[in-house]
Amino acid sequence: MIIISSAFSILLCSVFSTTLLQLIPLNLGILPLFIGMLYGGYKSGLPLAGLYLICDFYFNEKWSFSGLFLHTGLLFYPLLVWMSPSFRKGTLTDKVNKLWVCLLPAMLLVTASPIIEDPALSLSNAGPLLLLMFYIMVSVFVGGALIYVIEFALEKLLLKEQIKGISEKYLREEEKLQQVMDVAPLCMVSVDTDGNVTSINEMMMNLFKTRMPELNKNDILGRPLGSFVDITEKDYISYRISQALKGVKMNNELIRIGSQIHYTSTSPLTNTFTGEILGAVLVIQDITELERLRSELGNVERLSLVGQMAASITHEIRNPMAVVRGFLQLMKEKSPESLDHYYRIVMEELDRANGIINDFLSLAQNRISEKEQWHLHQIINDLSPLLWADANLRGQTIELVLDENVPKLNLNAKEVKQMLLNLARNGMEAMEEKGKLSIQTRLKKKEQIVELIIRDTGVGMSKSRQERLFEPFFTTKAKGTGLGLALCLSIVERHGGKIMVESEEGQGTTFVIQLPLVES
Ligand code: ADP
Ligand code: MG
Repeated sequence: MIIISSAFSILLCSVFSTTLLQLIPLNLGILPLFIGMLYGGYKSGLPLAGLYLICDFYFNEKWSFSGLFLHTGLLFYPLLVWMSPSFRKGTLTDKVNKLWVCLLPAMLLVTASPIIEDPALSLSNAGPLLLLMFYIMVSVFVGGALIYVIEFALEKLLLKEQIKGISEKYLREEEKLQQVMDVAPLCMVSVDTDGNVTSINEMMMNLFKTRMPELNKNDILGRPLGSFVDITEKDYISYRISQALKGVKMNNELIRIGSQIHYTSTSPLTNTFTGEILGAVLVIQDITELERLRSELGNVERLSLVGQMAASITHEIRNPMAVVRGFLQLMKEKSPESLDHYYRIVMEELDRANGIINDFLSLAQNRISEKEQWHLHQIINDLSPLLWADANLRGQTIELVLDENVPKLNLNAKEVKQMLLNLARNGMEAMEEKGKLSIQTRLKKKEQIVELIIRDTGVGMSKSRQERLFEPFFTTKAKGTGLGLALCLSIVERHGGKIMVESEEGQGTTFVIQLPLVES
């Protein structure tokens, strides 16, 4: 910019240059040239110098070779270029001084050039001498003034750039802050000292919109917060906002709005340096779900305590029952054969009670099961004679489809046996004669799991029954305990797996157990 205007000024000055007293070339183009060289360094300074020399050649009527050195200031160009870097870093006075250091001798040389060229010439009278002095003074003064003006303009330009940068940054920061507020899972709104809304986030908007669906952000900004909250909470919130504006911070207070429970915090917004209060912020967090979970957790804890008590009681019941059964056995042998029938019923019932207790205890004992590397197929093959015997009695068949790729897994064999037995029994109990129970294994390499599938062609279940299936004591059978599937679920979970059920009424039921290849 400076360089272009320097070049332009050089041209103008040269066009209007004249010769003072017919002797001294009068060309103020030297000023923009020097300034341009100081600001521009050699890169832009040399072209300017070239331009000046050419202009001098064209416009100076008294051009001469010696004049080229004397009245163009040519001798000072190297000095100017050399000073340029330090010039640019210097303060205003430094700059003016540097310009003068070059300009003053250069002007003296220019004015003295006719005398140097022609020593015979002498300026004896005072008039022209004064004029010359005046010319030098003016050019030196104008040079200083120009530097001053340029610096002033540059500073203004810099300031403008800085302000533009800062305001852009401010806008970006504001946008970022709004986005951060919008993604936070909290309702936030801030107000100024008069209680008018200054900013609001998405969650808070949604909270307002539940009551006033047409509301949009611009309707709220700049308006009093009190006019948007419900009458019932108005006092509560207004009081807290007014307290915050007085500098009182209120944290983590519970407020119940309808069925919802909210945590609220109000704090003043202050100027960090002066401590002056600029507004207040209200933060609301919906903790209904959290509260529900918390109370449920309390229930679970109570239940687990009841479960533990029940487990220790049932454990104690087993001992007297064993004694009773032993004596019954003895009495049966000593009693007449006609009573055998009764003894059998009593003992069967005792066995059933014992079975229930055993199931219940294995369900309640939530201990970490000890596992070993077992082949699932070995467990199935161990069980299959028992299952076949059961199936034969019912006139049903069993089909085994075992995938040879299934590797050994980390299993507790006793638990898996119990699970398989429970599921197979349930399947058989759900089927009539001629039903077919199929037990299948499958390796799913991609998912890194092994699937154990137990399918029956029995009565199936409705959706509502499927939902309650794994609840302890849920049973539809007259002699059922309702503990079988609950036990299966806890066994599968202990193995880090999943159990799923698919069932259609009248068609049959499929249980799928997924066991991980590597337990995480
Ligand atoms: P129980 O067998 O003692 O009743 P379970 O927990 O094993 O207890 O099963 C709970 C209930 O789930 C059963 O009473 C039955 O109604 C239903 N059920 C379980 N397995 C099947 C199945 N394969 N087909 C149909 N219903 C089933
Ligand atoms: Mg069962």
